[in-house]
Amino acid sequence: MNANLFATFERIALAAGDAAFLDTDTGPGLSYAQMLALTARYANTLERLGVRPGDRLAVQVDKSVQNFCLYLAALRMGAVYLPLNTGYQLGELAYFLEDATPHVFVCAPAGHAAKSALAAQHGVAHTLTLDEDGGGSLSALAAGERDRFATATLAADDIAIIIYTSGTTGRPKGAMLTHANLLSNGRALTKLWNFGAADVLLHALPLFHAHGLFISSHCALLSGSRMLFLKKFKAEQVAALLPRATVMVGVPTFYTRLLDLPAFDAASAANMRLFISGSAPLLAETNRAFAQRTGQIVLERYGMTESAIISSNPCHGERRIGSVGLAIDGVEVRIADADDMALPAGAVGGIQIRGSGVMKGYWRKPELTAAEFSADGWFRTGDLGTLGADGYLNIVGRAKDLVISGGYNVYPKEIEMAIDALPGVLESAVIGVPDRDFGEAVTAVVVCRGAPLDGAAVIAPLKTQLANYKVPKHVHFVAELPRNAMGKVLKNVLRSTYGGDKT
Ligand code: ATP
Ligand code: MG
Repeated sequence: MNANLFATFERIALAAGDAAFLDTDTGPGLSYAQMLALTARYANTLERLGVRPGDRLAVQVDKSVQNFCLYLAALRMGAVYLPLNTGYQLGELAYFLEDATPHVFVCAPAGHAAKSALAAQHGVAHTLTLDEDGGGSLSALAAGERDRFATATLAADDIAIIIYTSGTTGRPKGAMLTHANLLSNGRALTKLWNFGAADVLLHALPLFHAHGLFISSHCALLSGSRMLFLKKFKAEQVAALLPRATVMVGVPTFYTRLLDLPAFDAASAANMRLFISGSAPLLAETNRAFAQRTGQIVLERYGMTESAIISSNPCHGERRIGSVGLAIDGVEVRIADADDMALPAGAVGGIQIRGSGVMKGYWRKPELTAAEFSADGWFRTGDLGTLGADGYLNIVGRAKDLVISGGYNVYPKEIEMAIDALPGVLESAVIGVPDRDFGEAVTAVVVCRGAPLDGAAVIAPLKTQLANYKVPKHVHFVAELPRNAMGKVLKNVLRSTYGGDKT
């Protein structure tokens, strides 16, 4: 049997035929049959350019239907797809081109000459363009190609994607995900989230992270359902389109922005059967407000580039607010101490995972790969959490964000939740800053809801709720927290602003 993930998509696409695959808000979309034809054209183009199975295809373009089909074409011909954040500037791009040595680089038309020169310096054979409407030199070549292509026969552990982590805690690392990793995760989620042919997935995430590229899109492909593909998340537009959709995947800011719209209510969400959130913590308060407004609890799930989805709340069954749910099929989760010894239910420790979704390793970083796996084969996620006796997982923060003050461990999430619950506070981030007496001093960076607060208004009530070592020694007020494209708070930026970077 062909372990190429696309071979599975192809079987489903052939059966779906003229059924819609991708709809857009503007131009015409694509049927499954048209997707098969377009991916064949792209695959033939890449082959003509000398791309062979295992060669890397680096892509830094704006989201489009054609961009998504280019990804599928890479799978189809066995090339390794390498998506790059569209925000990367030339200097940053050089790191990825040097690290991944792609054979072909596809970029946006803006700045093409400089990017193409840079790519040539790094041994890239061809640099082509793809614009946000699907035009450019790649599509011009593809137009002359055949719309049939024999899907490459691959082994289960052949690499499908090298996808760089978000760089929240340091330099992004290239995770190698295999065809088997993606298929097992996609199948488990399709079942868990109950995807069926009648679903319409509203897709407004970028395509350069795992979340937007494949986590939910594979559920659509594996169930023969359609996607409503939006270039960007715009709250008004999404609220207006929800009646045409049944499922939405997003990051927490999608939900806070929808809630900011006074007109967004239960009627707007009446056709929706499932709202999913991940990539960053969804505040309990946001989820409660969302449930109050729409009658639906957002399903929160936990994942990472290195293994796609790890755990998820159930579709049917208890959707526990503040928890990231239960380990999904094919993934085992344990909580372990610094010596990789499993801890009992309820204890805080490192979240470790094992199973068919976990990556093959970091691209060209065997030492780092070896360092992140325990002797008995568990991957250390770098997140800290607790696992209840009932299997529900709670994340308390990242190991790198753990604050050690006066010898005591302080888990930022606990303090952030206490601060967020104070009147007048919108949100907060807790970090450790170097301190002569305590080693690190707990420091809170707070965004107020309306009228500005002072430090005492935050510290005084916390003193009655928390042990003294957990109470912030310093409080800073900001208009907003620094975040990356996926809405993750950049604590290393806060640490360098407020007291030297410890990462
Ligand atoms: P880097 O590894 O480069 O520092 P990153 O870890 O942010 O960046 P990703 O792989 O995109 O890169 O993100 C995975 C991380 O996102 C997880 O390890 C976890 O910390 C966080 N995360 C994902 N989903 C959730 C969630 N539902 N709640 C809290 N945190 C989450
Ligand atoms: Mg990470």
